[in-house]
Amino acid sequence: MLRRTKIVATLGPATDDPKVLDKLIEAGVDVVRLNFSHGTHDEHRERAERVRNRARAHGRQVGVLADLQGPKIRIEQFKEGSITLREGDTFILDAALASNAGNKERVGVAYKNLPNDVERGNTLLLDDGKLEFWVENVSGTEIICRVKTGGVLSDRKGINRQGGGLSAPALTDKDREDIKVAADIQADYLAVSFPRRAEDVNEARELLNQAGGFSGIIAKIERTEALEALEDIIAASDAVMIARGDLGVEIGDAALPPVQKRIISLAREMNRIVITATQMMDSMIHSQIPTRAEVFDVANSVFDGTDAVMLSAETAAGDFPDKAIAAMDRICREAEKQPVATTSDHRINTEFDRVDEAVAMAAMYTANHLGVKVIAALTESGSTPLWMSRISSGIPIYALTRHVKTRRKVTLYRGVYPLSFDITKKDHATVNKEAVDELKRRGVVRDGDLVIITKGDLMGIMGGTNAMKIIRVGSEVDPET
Ligand code: PGA
Ligand code: MN
Repeated sequence: MLRRTKIVATLGPATDDPKVLDKLIEAGVDVVRLNFSHGTHDEHRERAERVRNRARAHGRQVGVLADLQGPKIRIEQFKEGSITLREGDTFILDAALASNAGNKERVGVAYKNLPNDVERGNTLLLDDGKLEFWVENVSGTEIICRVKTGGVLSDRKGINRQGGGLSAPALTDKDREDIKVAADIQADYLAVSFPRRAEDVNEARELLNQAGGFSGIIAKIERTEALEALEDIIAASDAVMIARGDLGVEIGDAALPPVQKRIISLAREMNRIVITATQMMDSMIHSQIPTRAEVFDVANSVFDGTDAVMLSAETAAGDFPDKAIAAMDRICREAEKQPVATTSDHRINTEFDRVDEAVAMAAMYTANHLGVKVIAALTESGSTPLWMSRISSGIPIYALTRHVKTRRKVTLYRGVYPLSFDITKKDHATVNKEAVDELKRRGVVRDGDLVIITKGDLMGIMGGTNAMKIIRVGSEVDPET
């Protein structure tokens, strides 16, 4: 059986060796993430190019996701690289301090407005919550803190405020430059970090379009405010990422599981894609096998209905990048056999707005009730397979398309597989047969299998799907319908 849940792997120093990249592709990576928080533009360009070359050599499609750094608020640097703080110590975050002048008493902050955003009584979390500061007083550029939980604090670690509410705008000057690079390398997806509302997502989309990009936009849900505007943000995006790292720091780790379920179900309901991210296989940065808790986390995300599961440092900087992918692969496959992953009541009681959407829903209903082997959606933009994939099912959906952009975009859709098929080069009378022949040639179907084909009368037109045809492989295909 094919795996339906997609795997996103972050690239980094640990994956730059082409041999390692080959192993990731062989282990089944679907989408790679370029993390713009680290690395140079040239590095990102090279990584995108290298992965596409290797994917081509394997006869595979691998999507490229460019992830913007966003306004992550960070401390500046220490003279010594790091300090150790103990509970009860006084420590000052000083917006006026030179960037490399940090010491045991104080350190600079890159976001100069921070002292205006916090007040006495706030809790600040540093390094993803490993250290905890209580704000005693704010005076001018200085935030005077009492250390509640101590530890080692090193250069450029992140700062979050418990409960959220820091005012930094979503797109920084660096993000604006990075968007141009994402457009230039033809990233299939662009992830916007720390959006607060739909306008932040819209702005990123406009900048991307101005730069000539076509990426699908992913909103990373990692701020308290984003949860308050969740529906609007999802509506403005092509996909959302449950960015559990930063989100967990803002809302508290215990609040994450119900929020994950809510985001996944809302995204699917709204015909959007959803990625579950961060610490899924964290122990595999240095271990060859996952913990039991990690096994359950990946499986539970599959049960929740996620499209994709994501690896961060496990692949970018880990000791066993391909093993982390292989572990996710086997856990997803097993989870997908469970009834919860294959049955659906999606849109059972709702109206459809469009003809193509109605055909997509009808095809899934039929496929799930007739014992169909595969669905072949002849598609331009990929909308039909997207709608289809919102219905949980065990039946593979092949997106047959002439557009490489569409083939790469569907790499993130659960249960959807890209296949190159140029409908404009086919005769109207023989297109059904040719589609079935293509599936047969690839070993996807055999004589006797049932296949559902969806397509439009006007072939090669976006949004034109208006027909569904059920074909038994090997029997005569009526060319007239
Ligand atoms: P990051 O986003 O890895 O870019 O921080 C994901 C998260 O916050 O979980
Ligand atoms: Mn984050």
